[in-house]
Amino acid sequence: MTENKLQIIPLGGLGEFGMNCLALRWQDDIFVIDAGLMFPEEELLGVDIVVPDITYLLENRKHVRAIVLTHGHEDHIGGLPWILSELNVPVYGTEFTLAYVEGKLEEHGLMDKTELIEITPGKTFSLGVFKITPVRVTHSLVDCVALAIDTPAGLVIHTGDFKIDLNPPDGRPFDLQAFAEYGKRGVLALLQDSTNVDRPGHTPSERSVIPALDEVFARTKKRLFFSCFSSSIHRLRIAADLAVKHGRKVALVGRSVTNSFEMAQDFGYIQVPDSLLIAPGKIRDFQRDKVCIFISGTQGEPMSALSRAAVDNHKHVNIEAGDTVLMSSRVIPGNEKGIFRMIDHLFRREAQVVYDDGTAGLIHVSGHASQEELRMMLHIIKPKFFIPIHGDYRHLKRHAELAATVSEIKQTILLEDGEILELDRNSAKKNGKVTVGRVCIDSGSAGDIVEDVVIRDRRHLSEAGIVLPILAINKTTGRVESMPEIVTRGFGATELSLIEEARLVVGRTLDASSAEEKADYGVIKEKIRQDLKRYIQKNTSRRPLIMPVILEI
Ligand SMILES: [Zn+2]
Ligand SMILES: [Zn+2]
Repeated sequence: MTENKLQIIPLGGLGEFGMNCLALRWQDDIFVIDAGLMFPEEELLGVDIVVPDITYLLENRKHVRAIVLTHGHEDHIGGLPWILSELNVPVYGTEFTLAYVEGKLEEHGLMDKTELIEITPGKTFSLGVFKITPVRVTHSLVDCVALAIDTPAGLVIHTGDFKIDLNPPDGRPFDLQAFAEYGKRGVLALLQDSTNVDRPGHTPSERSVIPALDEVFARTKKRLFFSCFSSSIHRLRIAADLAVKHGRKVALVGRSVTNSFEMAQDFGYIQVPDSLLIAPGKIRDFQRDKVCIFISGTQGEPMSALSRAAVDNHKHVNIEAGDTVLMSSRVIPGNEKGIFRMIDHLFRREAQVVYDDGTAGLIHVSGHASQEELRMMLHIIKPKFFIPIHGDYRHLKRHAELAATVSEIKQTILLEDGEILELDRNSAKKNGKVTVGRVCIDSGSAGDIVEDVVIRDRRHLSEAGIVLPILAINKTTGRVESMPEIVTRGFGATELSLIEEARLVVGRTLDASSAEEKADYGVIKEKIRQDLKRYIQKNTSRRPLIMPVILEI
């Protein structure tokens, strides 16, 4: 450790989208900003989530003072259960962020072991030598902050995720004033969100979707299904207010949207009359034009409520001709296939589908700052050193180019995961590297930390085995032609009878699925994977890699 230098060490999120995690160090004091996850790319079959490798933090465990969270999105808090199970440190976050964290920790049995400390914009707290002041920023989620960090080398600002929304639905605007004052005081280094650096202009306010959504509410004659990212609290609030305005009751369908809505009510972000909400089981008691269903699943996730409703496989809701499905979200790259497959099912039911196809008007806005907002921040903060964060390398590079026009910036540093940046009052230099990487996790429990991607498959094969259920589906009839075959590797003789029974499990999954689901390979593979996983884990202690294979004949 170099004496009298501030070290900035990104452990995730610089060179990729997601799993944001960054350490700041001054001598024996380390603290961590955010602990996010990333959803796996398609090639990582059988893996549920990906989190950053925290070897560096574990090696320095006695110096790590805390994890400070900027906001409650999964790419900032989703890795917490895994990190906390290895490294028990206090977690700082705003009220709403901590509400998300509590839910997560409870699920993983970590609630009693973890110290959660609430932070408030404008109120400074200390971690070792660091003095940290949260600054109110706006984003698609509520209660988000940037961090202004006083260090012995100077002031460092980390923006978190943000856009500059001066008129957000919750009445808590972006605190431009605070950033301007820091700018006047002098800022050593700025770390700024690069997500939307490709977009010219200014990202619209969260409020700007109201006219387009209002218009959809006005013209819908039958049931209205409303879907947005469950953490889009502003959006849920807007839709709830529109439901009141248009005389529709609201039913919450799907776990994630229900959780978010209830939390938003608890903390006063959504205020609606109690009589507005009806239980999902009561939906059928109301005329189709008197209900709006807030439903989870904008990304066509195979097991989500909307995907299931789209193939008539949901307990409480079905979709009929003349219903409208309003997807107030964007298509996340990589999810196109699943989303459009789901939209096809909806079209087949003659539902009106309003989605981000370029003709629907402003039904969704981004939560991230566009070029003019990024430029504005660079101009008012005027940092000596600038470090773009949150993005693939090309976003970081573009952001650096954008900053080149700001004359006060002495140097822009393109930092990537694992590189150590050392700063003092006058210089910034890369010096060395720490271990970083992606850790794949195969299911929901904290005991399931799986190894590095490279060795994961090999270990999986040698220790847990592999299970390949193979189905032959007739392309023209859509029928499954024979009993599924199951090929395994790495199972002992005693376990083989069990695998034999697994064929029956797959058979039952197929019986319980509609023809449409069977024709939708994404859906049917996921159903088989989940059912088999449950069965095998219940009857053995194994967690094999399960990869359903469909042969078209
Ligand atoms: Zn975010
Ligand atoms: Zn983010």
